[in-house]
Amino acid sequence: MIYQRSSALFAEAEKYIPGGVNSPVRAFKSVGGTPVFIEKAKGAYLYDEDGNRLIDYIASWGPMILGHAHDPVINAVTEKAKKGTSFGMPTETETEIAKLAVSMVPNIDKIRFVNSGTEACMSAVRLARGYTGRDKVIKFAGCYHGHSDAFLIQAGSGAMTFGTPNSPGVPRGTAKDTLLATYNDPESVKTLFEANKDDIAAIIIEPIAGNMGCILPEKGFLEGLRSLCDEYGALLIFDEVMTGFRLAKGGAQEVLGIRADIVTFGKVIGGGMPVGAFASRNEIMDHLAPLGPVYQAGTLSGNPLAMSAGLAMLTELDQKPETFKSLEEKTQYLHKGIARILNKHGVPHQINRMGSMISVHFTEVEVRDFDSSATGNNDTFKKFFHGMLNEGIHLPPSAFESWFLNDALSYEDLDYTINAVDKIAPSL
Ligand SMILES: *Cc1c(COP(=O)(O)O)cnc(C)c1O
Repeated sequence: MIYQRSSALFAEAEKYIPGGVNSPVRAFKSVGGTPVFIEKAKGAYLYDEDGNRLIDYIASWGPMILGHAHDPVINAVTEKAKKGTSFGMPTETETEIAKLAVSMVPNIDKIRFVNSGTEACMSAVRLARGYTGRDKVIKFAGCYHGHSDAFLIQAGSGAMTFGTPNSPGVPRGTAKDTLLATYNDPESVKTLFEANKDDIAAIIIEPIAGNMGCILPEKGFLEGLRSLCDEYGALLIFDEVMTGFRLAKGGAQEVLGIRADIVTFGKVIGGGMPVGAFASRNEIMDHLAPLGPVYQAGTLSGNPLAMSAGLAMLTELDQKPETFKSLEEKTQYLHKGIARILNKHGVPHQINRMGSMISVHFTEVEVRDFDSSATGNNDTFKKFFHGMLNEGIHLPPSAFESWFLNDALSYEDLDYTINAVDKIAPSL
């Protein structure tokens, strides 16, 4: 594959956009080389500016669960656009998508739409703080909840200590209210509750983590968080920006059978438009302005273009729930195929998978939290990534990102992908 034009476009972009990209992971920093510039996409494929066709396992980081440029979504958006893109006034479409989302997801009565997953998580935490009258929030090392101040906190040396910001620009004062715990380690959470009894407003967690590779919650872990929250009067926030409407109609709550107090959404819920949302039961949601004192707003929030894309997407998933099964079967097929090949070539690896999320880690250690995920051999991942790209397969350009399958992928595409692994495995 030749990526000449992409390289030239990237060089030009770097002159005017910091790092040439509008979101850092796109820049290929952790795998080296320069990113592929996309011209268009349809179904399971991306078409780049050099005329290459790539099989896509990013799905715009999740939203394109039914494949790119999915007709019902594109039609809904084009029809809406002709009538105007934003009015800053209520529209019926907002109620339609809200009603549908509430019917699909367990334990929520009301939902509010914003413009990104970041905004959704930021607003969910404000609501939890406003509702409980407490300041501190527990998050887990390796979980990503968007780029707002309170969440850009790293583990540092001790998970039990106050967080320190891992980006300049995050005030220490903000960081000190974010407490860090270890994924799959309920004791680390219990310790934080015991030390900060009446100060913890909420736990925020990716119920199935996708931002340190795909990591599954072990038996009893989330149940333990639920009971700690109940015991100490804190709220449990499930960040379902990745898992919502991807693992099942009702997301991780439905799949795992655990009730969250607040749920955040993004990605699939917008059908590829900039949409996020947060939802809860009436008692909590009614604390939001204009009903209650917790302020939250947005000029373009719930705009008709974004809402029509999201509504078309959710309608498809609601009417064709077999999609989730089909996706899971495809992902399992890919999992088995890649594992068989890597085993054949003696490449040490772990594959984690849940529904249509999957990640390959080049390590001998079981990957169950951020530290074990970080044991992955990044040199091997780089070779794997570029080897696959050369075969026309676009994987997330970071070992810490989950792959997202879309239902437009055919078994031929999956076989092609597995064969590509067979080709490059000897060089790993
Ligand atoms: C992507 C993501 C976010 C942030 O969403 P943006 O739309 O990128 O702001 C938050 N939480 C999780 C779990 C995510 O995967």
